[in-house]
Amino acid sequence: MDSWSSLAAGEQLVLESLFWSKAASRNELALRLRQSKSKANTVVAALIAQGLVAEVGHVLHGTGRPAEMLRISDTLGVLLAIDIGATSMSVAVLTPNMSILALHSEEVDVRDAQQGPTVVLARARTLALTLLERRGKKASDVLAIGIGVPGPVNMESAQLVNPPLMPGWGDFSIRDFMRDSFSAPVFVDNDMNIRAIGELRQLHRSVSNFLVVKVGTGIGCGIVCEGKIYRGATGSAGDVGHICVDINGPRCHCGNVGCVEAMAARPAVERLAQEAMERGDSEALQRHAGKEGALDLAAVGAASREGDVVANRIIQRSGMLVGQMLASVVNFFNPSHVFLTGSIVTIGPLFLAAVRQSIYQRSLALSTRNLHVQYTSLGDTGGITGAGVLAMQELLKSGRLRP
Ligand SMILES: [Zn+2]
Repeated sequence: MDSWSSLAAGEQLVLESLFWSKAASRNELALRLRQSKSKANTVVAALIAQGLVAEVGHVLHGTGRPAEMLRISDTLGVLLAIDIGATSMSVAVLTPNMSILALHSEEVDVRDAQQGPTVVLARARTLALTLLERRGKKASDVLAIGIGVPGPVNMESAQLVNPPLMPGWGDFSIRDFMRDSFSAPVFVDNDMNIRAIGELRQLHRSVSNFLVVKVGTGIGCGIVCEGKIYRGATGSAGDVGHICVDINGPRCHCGNVGCVEAMAARPAVERLAQEAMERGDSEALQRHAGKEGALDLAAVGAASREGDVVANRIIQRSGMLVGQMLASVVNFFNPSHVFLTGSIVTIGPLFLAAVRQSIYQRSLALSTRNLHVQYTSLGDTGGITGAGVLAMQELLKSGRLRP
């Protein structure tokens, strides 16, 4: 045995309940766990004595005595969250209750065979140590590390499995690499699954069947089915980017034609805007172009907010195609919510309106009767929050928290 102590089953239940919900009083906790108040109180007292649970102020309920609220103690340590996308990476230090203490994002290219896992992960490790230091923390303060990657993952081994986008990452041991700097356990999952699990905690598990759809460099989807992440038979569930939305569409990098990713993701939006600008169709796009006359998503969004017809048409087309793909998915899966995330959400409300319109037009009335389509409330921290939730969830499951 090392210095990590195992939790009793009752303690684990209380901690998991506190983690997945808002702070709770002792009575709420007993009710939620279907335990007697005295039993719950005994467990809570033991957890407080160990420094695992903290009292965080009172809440008044009607005319009764104010109830002391409980949550997992923030003095326990910190979590490291690493969200690796196809073209960017974010590293953050979080409290056990998912407050972000420090965050840094920068561009990386995991598709570049010259970089590979050792370059990208070494950078992540350096950033993590810098962020910890900035908050006066050490590597030994880290309770667990959660990492999201844009490819299929074997969670047991924390390794990627034949990732189509990431040369050199298949069978590379992320755990061994991180172990050089951190003794904390490392958990890895697909970047869409971590977004889904982050959303699930944000919602305090109040929604059981939903999708998190990311539109950025590519298009992907995380699935929560009956309150759990759904991964599919071989871990590739939610790979919606290559659903065909136009049989006469352009060729996609996957080899097929008319994939929604090739036609509606960020590169397609930027390319169409660039072409329109170069044809002289839009004065607004010209004004928002960068130094070398290049247009990015922010520029297209800015032109759209000024009412530029060309920018609006491009955004609506992208939203319509994403909605067309989602209509089929919604008919098949019947979720109550679809949360949109990724860089496309920065483009403004027009994209969301087009997605909604397209889904409602094409889906069966029964599947859309109670369907909510909205941008995620986590904004661009969805990946980081999700990686943190993954780390904390797996740590709690293992029952091995620091004494
Ligand atoms: Zn494709």
